[in-house]
Amino acid sequence: MKERSVKVENFVRYFGEIEDVKKQIECCPKCGAKFTVTHLADHDNLYIHEEVTCENCTYGTEETLHILN
Ligand SMILES: [Zn+2]
Repeated sequence: MKERSVKVENFVRYFGEIEDVKKQIECCPKCGAKFTVTHLADHDNLYIHEEVTCENCTYGTEETLHILN
């Protein structure tokens, strides 16, 4: 029950600050510059390889796999 109420609270916060959350996803947490996003679709394996890179600093690259089905 405790865990459930925490989740609800987080959801409300996320909903209320959607623009801030979007900024956190699209921008570098180190320098604030917008990430360069690359999508590589692999249709044989049904996933999209998403790569975000900051070209403004040495934050590096974050990679995410999106599974399609
Ligand atoms: Zn950066």
